[in-house]
Amino acid sequence: MTEIRHDWTKEEILEVYNKPLMELLYEASTMHRKYHDPNTVQVSTLISIKTGGCSEDCGYCPQAARYHTNVEGNDLMTVNQVKAQALRAKEGGSSRVCMGAAWRNVKDGPEFDQVLEMVRTINKLDMEVCCTLGMVTENQAKRLAEAGLYAYNHNIDTSEDYYDDVISTRAFKDRVDTIENVRKTNVTVCSGGIIGMGESLEDRAGMLETLTRFSPHPESVPINALVAVEGTPLEEQPPVNIFEMVRMVATARIVLPDSQVRLSAGRTQMSREGQAMCFFAGANSIFAGDKLLTTPNPDINEDMKMFEDLGLNTQKPFFKHEQRESVEAENSQYQSLGEKPKWTRPDHKIERNEQKKQEAKEIRA
Ligand code: SF4
Repeated sequence: MTEIRHDWTKEEILEVYNKPLMELLYEASTMHRKYHDPNTVQVSTLISIKTGGCSEDCGYCPQAARYHTNVEGNDLMTVNQVKAQALRAKEGGSSRVCMGAAWRNVKDGPEFDQVLEMVRTINKLDMEVCCTLGMVTENQAKRLAEAGLYAYNHNIDTSEDYYDDVISTRAFKDRVDTIENVRKTNVTVCSGGIIGMGESLEDRAGMLETLTRFSPHPESVPINALVAVEGTPLEEQPPVNIFEMVRMVATARIVLPDSQVRLSAGRTQMSREGQAMCFFAGANSIFAGDKLLTTPNPDINEDMKMFEDLGLNTQKPFFKHEQRESVEAENSQYQSLGEKPKWTRPDHKIERNEQKKQEAKEIRA
């Protein structure tokens, strides 16, 4: 299929994004039908296995320790707690569990060993297991793969050009390096970004351009609409217009035809009709569960009712790639290297964030 390209330019992608909407929808839907069953949607459940207290400064994130939000942090969950939530998710119709930890990067040690045990446990429930733990080294990615990890999520968030306006504690290249480390294993890649952070349309096209450069393309591409949380530097951003979301999904579908495009954060701000348009435009995955890490998400029963009304079916696990084998910890061929990776750490701009928060407070007062 010749549509899978790695040479899309930003200008070409922008041209696609800006087509008359009906034209864009028709093209995206046609592409969707070529590569996927348009009546099937994959359902993932996100579990926050370690919440809050993160040292990073991602401007959209209420889990960053430096922002004053209402997020209550917790320590790493136990394997049994995660197993119980995964079983509930399976009963609710999810085929995948994604475990998120608010870490800058994975550190070798007992906590990582515990996460590896969670991976083995969920894989044995015959569910696809995904992790989003921050940056990983090649050895850590291999240990996750050996434990039976199916997917690793690491979003690029936005375009390389706009990235520094949102995050200053690590560089765009660090993100790309982590994705490349995951690619050295048989773990599939989940990577996408967020719209509504004040970026330009060129930035949206630039983000998709970067995703198309990966070879192969990421198997999953989450498209998030910013949920502006009070206390974060982006708290004043207005909600994303539904037609912009539909355009973004449709454009992602056209330039990343074989990927699963996932409607992620921001679904509570969308009507059922808006979400239906996104499915028509090529979205074929959602995050389920009443919370997405710390931000609200529709109730699973509402989602299932919407699926019923739209005649959508849920995708079975391991539909596209076979289940990975889990190697038990005692049989592992990989050592913990006790790695303390020196990731790029560009100049912090905490002052800038503090200033933005102050400005927002003055406006509200
Ligand atoms: S997005 Fe992740 S890395 Fe960034 S502040 Fe939030 S938890 Fe930390």
